Amino acid sequence: MPANRSLAVVVRAVDVFETSLVVTLFTRELGKVAALAKGGRRLKSPFQGGLDLLGVSDIVLLPKASESLDLLTEAAPVERFASLRRDLAALYAGYYVAELLTDLTDYHDPHPKLFDAARITLRHLGEPDLRARRVLRFELACLRELGFMPALDLCAHCGNEVDTSGDVAFGLATGGVLCTSCRPGQPHVATVSGRTLEAIRVLASPGQAWRELSFEPRTPGLGAVRQTVGAVMSHVLGHRPRLWPYLGV
Ligand SMILES: [Zn+2]
Repeated sequence: MPANRSLAVVVRAVDVFETSLVVTLFTRELGKVAALAKGGRRLKSPFQGGLDLLGVSDIVLLPKASESLDLLTEAAPVERFASLRRDLAALYAGYYVAELLTDLTDYHDPHPKLFDAARITLRHLGEPDLRARRVLRFELACLRELGFMPALDLCAHCGNEVDTSGDVAFGLATGGVLCTSCRPGQPHVATVSGRTLEAIRVLASPGQAWRELSFEPRTPGLGAVRQTVGAVMSHVLGHRPRLWPYLGV
């Protein structure tokens, strides 16, 4: 089989045998892959920093027959994110990005847009003022790209327009806002304010408006957005994200 080359984020590394690693890579072109990096733990590793967790590397994989791991033959570092080494909050946010890439995607299911979104997010996690919003934008990019984006304007059950000027019923299992006729009988319904829905809309949109979102002290604010997006994410994953308690919002 021919070798495959791609850019990849290293999302997990586990020691195996005396000198090797099994790495999980989220690659741009091949999606998530697990590969054996022979000699990856040696002092003079042939990969020379190309297997650092949360770094972007240019990798070459030798695919193996089914049932066994691909073999990593090259991993050259392309981009390292310095803020993740000096800022614990940034590092936790980086681990969260890795957790979502690992747990939400399937092996060999490429999502280049998600790779690009992860790389941009990791690059800017050192900016404390915008960090929480960047993480939310990444979560929303995951939901959109993987087909789990909740409905924010039209009823997730019947498709009719929902009045979002005040509090709105939000069906976690149904997939978004619910109109008053559809709400009864739906499981896992939360109440979300119109302001929170608007903030989610802005955070999920392209452009720069998300930077300008103002969260006044008396409004439910960023915490409510975190709560709602976190609840959707937990529902999609089937459990609470492990890093969620460390995100600090
Ligand atoms: Zn409805």
